[in-house]
Amino acid sequence: MKSAAENYKIYAIEYFRREASTTDLVLRPSVIETVDMSYFVWAIVGENQTIAVDSGFKPEAGLKRGRQIDTEIGEAFASVGVDTAQVDKVIITHLHWDHAGCLDLFPQARFFIQQDEMLFWSGPYGRYHHFREVVEPDDISLINRLNLEGRVSQLRGEARIAPGVKLHLVGGHTPGMQIVEVDTPRGTAIIASDAVKTYRNLAENAPEPFLHDVPGMLHGYEVIRSLVKDDSLVFSGHDPQVLDRFTRVGPNAVVLD
Ligand SMILES: [Zn+2]
Repeated sequence: MKSAAENYKIYAIEYFRREASTTDLVLRPSVIETVDMSYFVWAIVGENQTIAVDSGFKPEAGLKRGRQIDTEIGEAFASVGVDTAQVDKVIITHLHWDHAGCLDLFPQARFFIQQDEMLFWSGPYGRYHHFREVVEPDDISLINRLNLEGRVSQLRGEARIAPGVKLHLVGGHTPGMQIVEVDTPRGTAIIASDAVKTYRNLAENAPEPFLHDVPGMLHGYEVIRSLVKDDSLVFSGHDPQVLDRFTRVGPNAVVLD
């Protein structure tokens, strides 16, 4: 069933923002300057269900990296009417520290993640600085514990997890990076998370530097272009422009409805 019937709304909540450098967002940029970088969580709210996408980071994990969080994740979701304690599905786009840091806020949830993502972080390369610096060991432990408790669905590529909500494995940013395709009354929308770090990366086919592999990242851009006609219904992972592209529903939140 094609389900614009669910009349999904997609919320993006910016829970943190910082001054970053172009070098954080584009691999080998020709001009280096200071740019704002946003951090988001997302919620897909339908008539019959609410699905959270990613879980941000905890204050302690931020402080370790010199980043003092503006809004704790529970409050961020609450600001758009989502009670994390009641959410029954959580999509984990990838396991980076700023996306998988608060899985414990979802005691009722089943978690949807790509098998490639689960396997990578317990494999031989996670110990190297390039990879290790972008995850929190406690988050990796927790997702493995949740898996043993039977609360994790490990996917192998494309998967439909609710009417009108489909996941696509793209890789690139991490081995198991996945994006979310949502049927909305306005058409197909994509929660790209870090597969599109900023809109510039997608527009210029410019990979970003926190990457696993360049072909995977370019493949991700192609997959997105095959699903939507332009980037107007794409939610980028870290681009402050998200807040200008959709309808404001609060100081730090927007909705596509
Ligand atoms: Zn990431």
